[in-house]
Amino acid sequence: MTLLFKVDEARGRAWKSLFETHAPDIDVRFWPDIGDPSQVRYFAAWQPPRQLHERFPNLQVIFATSAGVDQFDLGELPEPIKVVRMLDPGIAQGIVEYACFAVLSLHRQIPLYLHQQQAGRWQDHFLTPAAQRRIGVMGLGNLGVAVLQSLRAFNFQLHGWARSQKSIDGVQCHAGDDQLESFLSQCDILICLLPLTDDTRDILNARTLAALPKGASLINLGRGGHLKEDDLLQALDSGQLSHAILDVLNEEPPSPDHRFWQHPHVWLTPHVGAMTAPQSAFEVLLANIRRHQVGKPMQGLIKRDHGY
Ligand code: NDP
Repeated sequence: MTLLFKVDEARGRAWKSLFETHAPDIDVRFWPDIGDPSQVRYFAAWQPPRQLHERFPNLQVIFATSAGVDQFDLGELPEPIKVVRMLDPGIAQGIVEYACFAVLSLHRQIPLYLHQQQAGRWQDHFLTPAAQRRIGVMGLGNLGVAVLQSLRAFNFQLHGWARSQKSIDGVQCHAGDDQLESFLSQCDILICLLPLTDDTRDILNARTLAALPKGASLINLGRGGHLKEDDLLQALDSGQLSHAILDVLNEEPPSPDHRFWQHPHVWLTPHVGAMTAPQSAFEVLLANIRRHQVGKPMQGLIKRDHGY
């Protein structure tokens, strides 16, 4: 069984040593040393090359080393090739940490206090109790649910929105396009944790941002493609939104003249919400390979018709 990785050198070294130690029966190769392409059954990458199925005629499974698979062109891959996303517990931990940092910063008005510090102004503002602050999460999957569960400890009013109806303790759940606007109308702080698909591209736009309560804030932890950046700039400039914390952008890195760099109401981080760590991801990947070898269903298998 040959597993081919296309990852950077440092990560490659880590994966290599883990497989040599714990799964020496698997022949692991690293791009561009692919050897005989007909032997490759498994392929693992964050950014895949095009036409994988043509280069590797016996390819059976593609493992994304990320939680999202929007970087894969699912339409071009023949149906029998399975695509599996990464359910590394380290990713959920990273996203929970980032979401808590961002929500608490916005809840406690830290962007405002930082501006005041720069202006040499010492002035307090009314402290809204957490029980009166409404937090909404778009996407109630692995990550959205983990974030909501962590936020419960602070006593916020929690809302969530997904495609299908959910039931989550302590969270008012909304579902489907019909309930999107009523969900948004109850989010003082909105967190996007959706996968990027044809249905969710540009979902954060002038219409949906206008459905938020005036002065709301946005945290985008999904993908840059969820957000129409010009619409966000207009919403910030008009005061409809008060602040945005963005970990993902349409163009990463953004051009040097992008307005986000200097915008007083935008905080940017360079797509660091979470990162796959070979150590914890290895166990997940190996377990899936073992499952596939004995014909059991793999965890994180993408539903082709949903695109996530
Ligand atoms: P999951 O597949 O577990 O969950 C996706 C959720 O989104 C589901 O609840 C699903 O609804 C919902 N959803 C999908 N399409 C729609 C739609 N059209 N309308 C409403 N809801 C929809 O994904 P994860 O939680 O694991 O990850 C989510 C995303 O987070 C990833 O795809 C990636 O883009 C992003 N991410 C970002 C990282 C970063 O560093 N910033 C790191 C890791 C991930 P339903 O449950 O009904 O199917």
